[in-house]
Amino acid sequence: MDRIHVTVRARPLSAEDAQSSPWRISGNAVALTAQPSTRFEFDRIFGEECRTADVYMARTKHIVDSAVQGFNGTVFAYGQTNSGKTYTMRGSDDEPGIIPLAIHDLFRSIQEHMDREFLVRMSYMEIYNEEINDLLVPEHRKLQIHENSERGIYVAGLSEEIVTHPEQVLDFVSFGESRRHIGETNMNVYSSRSHTIFRMVVESREKVDDSDSGDSCDAVRVSVLNLVDLAGSERAAKTGAEGVRLKEGSHINKSLMTLGTVIKKLSEGIKGQGGHVPYRDSKLTRILQPALGGNANTAIICNITLAQVHADETKSSLQFASRAL
Ligand code: ADP
Ligand code: MG
Repeated sequence: MDRIHVTVRARPLSAEDAQSSPWRISGNAVALTAQPSTRFEFDRIFGEECRTADVYMARTKHIVDSAVQGFNGTVFAYGQTNSGKTYTMRGSDDEPGIIPLAIHDLFRSIQEHMDREFLVRMSYMEIYNEEINDLLVPEHRKLQIHENSERGIYVAGLSEEIVTHPEQVLDFVSFGESRRHIGETNMNVYSSRSHTIFRMVVESREKVDDSDSGDSCDAVRVSVLNLVDLAGSERAAKTGAEGVRLKEGSHINKSLMTLGTVIKKLSEGIKGQGGHVPYRDSKLTRILQPALGGNANTAIICNITLAQVHADETKSSLQFASRAL
């Protein structure tokens, strides 16, 4: 496995916020101007003038291309609510996000591999309160994670749609999004508390000529690509959560904490320090396990805001992202 690639993206500030921002970006580092020792360095830092396509090119494209070649991959958007995770992953009317960019690229890349035939399937799910929901079916069903020797780790009953072109995938994604609105009065609150996993499974094998003897020496390759929009990383305590909200908050914190630990262990493993990786401690990491570690490619896009009011939250996001390096 390659090192985990960590990119930071700072969302645009209002003119007023920009004047009083306590942060300064220079090259691949970001620091508090008043406290130069609070300095974080990453693979890339994108400022507010950057485009999502630039963020995509920095690493995600490589992960998508590798998925077509048979390697698993996972890309996470991490950050507090309103930091631009969904903007980065899904995009807006103005610019496409990582998900549509990846979908188009994946089908383009498949067409370039003339010697192989492909089968692409997609799933769309969310984890809310440690419950897994399939976003591609009309009814709410709580799904469970299973494991066996034939399939490995999988979400039992999760629908997989066979897809053959980008528009079809995007239609399913839009359908999945519309599903999430049902019964929710405050979409923003809801989405800030759930993890969304968009997944494409790419299966391929060598094309066999009719004139050939028939058996191909090349086995079927199967790879999984996960594009994950994580729940908001802000702490429950800070938002004064109580009751149900607090329960949600603690689930979110636990799964993000587990994700942090898993990523830290993997990163240490790459450096040769090894150790137990606690995938089983949260549904999120358990579902993603086959595409985290091993031969898989992993990237984290840490979304931040440079506004003064969010300085503490931004600092803890940067600390989280640093653990992956
Ligand atoms: P999150 O998913 O992290 O809660 P959003 O992606 O919903 O945050 O972003 C919050 C708001 O900020 C949205 O209105 C979004 O359109 C806007 N926004 C975020 N990032 C950018 C960006 N890079 N450029 C322009 N608008 C952005
Ligand atoms: Mg969001």
